[in-house]
Amino acid sequence: MPKGQHYGRTQTRAYTTEYYRIHANFLKPLLTKPLGSYCINSEFLADGHKKLYLEESNMGIRYVTFSINDNLHQIALKLDNRSASNKLYITCPYCQKQRQHLYAIKTAYVCRKCIGLHYPSQSERSNERLIRRIRKLRIQLWGYDWPDVNNMFKNVRYWPKPKWMRWKTFEQKRNKITELENRYWPMAVVQIKTTFNEYFMTDSKK
Ligand SMILES: [Zn+2]
Repeated sequence: MPKGQHYGRTQTRAYTTEYYRIHANFLKPLLTKPLGSYCINSEFLADGHKKLYLEESNMGIRYVTFSINDNLHQIALKLDNRSASNKLYITCPYCQKQRQHLYAIKTAYVCRKCIGLHYPSQSERSNERLIRRIRKLRIQLWGYDWPDVNNMFKNVRYWPKPKWMRWKTFEQKRNKITELENRYWPMAVVQIKTTFNEYFMTDSKK
């Protein structure tokens, strides 16, 4: 079995009221990769959300296609050449608007605006609650001044122990935060630790 293919993993899909998001930059390496099939190596995504096909239009615009519940989802990768940073945008398969993030909900990838149309807004509220909880617990441990205290793309795994706190207490509190983060931003965790090749691979079955 090729590295990173976790067949039979369903445990992480149990959180039915939560969804995960992909940042446009996460797909940036696909601008220069050979066209073809790829698989995002994340145990937090369902099969349909992992497997993608990379193509290029005659206009030279690259796009990826996911097949989710037998519906094709096309997402264009659009570089903003006007900005010095060459920011990448990805298009929402539903409204076609250029976005920085798309969310993996049960039956689709959609932008934040479209979530309400395809998913109960209840889940959005529960996600916001989760974020608020994570921030609150982080601030209790590291204070408002810690540089990444509000940055949900960072995980707390390597953040230092406050001098005044006992190790055991610290570890308990930190593990609680880690547990919440793992439910919320698994894609972010992937981005931090990774090089491209660890998280995308050529789909060997194609
Ligand atoms: Zn949309």
